Amino acid sequence: MPSLYIHVPFCVKKCDYCAFYSQALINSSEDLIGVYLEGLEIEMAKRRKDAPQGVSSLFIGGGTPTALQDRDLAHLMAMIQRNFHWNPEVEYTIEGNPGTITPAKLTILRSYGINRFSLGVQAFDDKLLSAVGRRHTARQAREAIGHLRTAGFNNLNLDLMFGLPAQDLSRWQASLEEALAYAPEHLSLYGLMLEEGTPLYKRYTAETREKTLNQLPDDDLQAEMQEWAVQRLKEEGYTHYETSNFARPGYECRHNLGYWRGEDYLGFGPGGVSCLNRVRWKIIEDVRVYRSRLQSGQDLADEAGQEPLALQECMAERMILGLRLEEGVNLTAFKNDFGVDLRDIYRDVLERYKAQDVFKIKGDFLCLNPRYSFVANSILQEFV
Ligand code: SF4
Repeated sequence: MPSLYIHVPFCVKKCDYCAFYSQALINSSEDLIGVYLEGLEIEMAKRRKDAPQGVSSLFIGGGTPTALQDRDLAHLMAMIQRNFHWNPEVEYTIEGNPGTITPAKLTILRSYGINRFSLGVQAFDDKLLSAVGRRHTARQAREAIGHLRTAGFNNLNLDLMFGLPAQDLSRWQASLEEALAYAPEHLSLYGLMLEEGTPLYKRYTAETREKTLNQLPDDDLQAEMQEWAVQRLKEEGYTHYETSNFARPGYECRHNLGYWRGEDYLGFGPGGVSCLNRVRWKIIEDVRVYRSRLQSGQDLADEAGQEPLALQECMAERMILGLRLEEGVNLTAFKNDFGVDLRDIYRDVLERYKAQDVFKIKGDFLCLNPRYSFVANSILQEFV
């Protein structure tokens, strides 16, 4: 069974670092959400046959799904439930941001069976939040966590970011300590990336006053932030099950695990990416074009079209994603899926790093020695 991802491409306002496809609602007078929901109805009716037995997990992401008003959120949930076999055992996640979460919305989500919530906190620090154009405040994040717990969400992820402008180690520690005080079941910790085309990228690649005043933490400081977090979360009993993700045992994100393990996934909505039977494609990132193509029966894929993946490419991707996991890459699954033993096909790479003890075989898995997780990217490129 594939997993299902629904992209909700709306945010109240764009954050300064964001390169995801999402439209700001703040200055829009048009009913773009209505256009989106109309398109999604047609898309689901057409493509639900891709998951005849149901889905292994659901993730409603964005964007900010909780930017939708109550009526639209209920419409979206009813649509998913109507089109895909619903099983309470399955992990159903929705993402949301502080400032857009109300008890009424959470009641709707719970009533449809959403059992996991991923909250974009990023920092419990108003200055850091405003330095990257986040719209919400630390107080709103605290309120949102309170609402979520009251509504009965007992599988809660908090997203935090390090490497923010003017963030030093102590400010990073303060945000993470506050997050720990709420005992989340899961934490995702991501370093800020300067993505080309974003306002933050422009600001930090030009000689601006802000760049001088609010410097970005350098690589050494970012590594120190990450190392401190890994150690601190280990002390608190979280497993570091993926490079950027930590969970209480049993609360690892099943949806993302499927993705890192190379399982098939279906992406719906503008910007949604699917990978099924080694063919990957992305839906065009434009809400109006999305709906009109659906109405006229045209292909939804973006300009790259449907891309059949070469075997070599799939194997490299399996290695790169799988080695981000603490468990590593499953040897039997690799052989079943690609017809070769990864120890044969990647013998050269494995031999090259043997003396440094970079890779380990543990039972039926090949994994990365955790000592190398901070330099993993350069090593993993060897599989490409
Ligand atoms: S809330 Fe998330 S998706 Fe929306 S603009 Fe900010 S980073 Fe991008």
